[in-house]
This record gives sequence, structure tokens and C-alpha cells, in this order.
Amino acid sequence: MDENCTFCKIIKGEIPSNKVYEDEEILAFKDINPAAPIHILVIPKKHLESLATMKEGDEKIISKIYQVINIIAEKQGFKEKGYRVIVNCGKDGGQEVPHLHFHLLAGTQFGDKIV
Ligand code: 5GP
Ligand code: ZN
Repeated sequence: MDENCTFCKIIKGEIPSNKVYEDEEILAFKDINPAAPIHILVIPKKHLESLATMKEGDEKIISKIYQVINIIAEKQGFKEKGYRVIVNCGKDGGQEVPHLHFHLLAGTQFGDKIV
């Protein structure tokens, strides 16, 4: 936990959020400023700053996050139609909140291919 971290505050319930999934290691909630009809943030409860600061062993939680993304996609009914997952990393990657998070975007057909 990081006292000054917005997402740690959401995990602790100090900042309210619209939760869509929770277990002992992972929390998913709706983005406050959605960039798509469905925009969910999936985060580890452990405060990991970014992909770039991952330590050995942290890959386990990343792999679980992808499992959870599929569970959410199934439950919310967009697994078949598809979705996009984005992770911004660091300043050049456009990361604003320094707590690792996966943007799960769905509900429209994304036209602009970044890659
Ligand atoms: P980043 O730019 O760091 O990849 O994405 C941060 C995301 O967190 C943004 O899409 C922003 O809208 C979202 N966000 C920032 N603060 C809050 C908050 O307090 N609650 C929620 N639900 N989302 C937030
Ligand atoms: Zn945090």
C-alpha cells in the first residue's frame, strides 16, 4: 500500500469506485473518465508502480489479471465480440496513475490500430 496512491485509496475504500470484480489479489472498477462505452481498470491490490518496475514473481499476478479480464468479459457479455487491453507505462507511455493498471475497453469496434 502507498498512502498517497489514488488506486491504493480505492482498494482501501477511501475513494469510492464502481467495482465490477474483486478477489483477494485483484480489483476491477469502472474508469471515472471512460474512453469507450465499457472502460474498466483492472489492478493488482499489491502496489506495483508499473510494468517497468516489476520484480521477479510479479509475473504471476499479471497472468492472473489476464484470466480475470476474461472472466469480466464473459460476465459482461463482450467476450465474443472482443475487447482491447492497454497498459500505459511511464511518462512516454502516458501513465498518469503510478499503480499498475490494465485498461479493459469494449462496447465498440476500435478502428485506430496503434500497432
Ligand atoms: P493512465 O493514464 O495512468 O494509464 O490511466 C489512469 C486512468 O485512471 C485514467 O483513465 C483515469 O480516468 C482513471 N482514474 C484516475 N483517477 C481515478 C479515480 O479516482 N477513479 C476512477 N474510477 N478512475 C480514475
Ligand atoms: Zn497504489
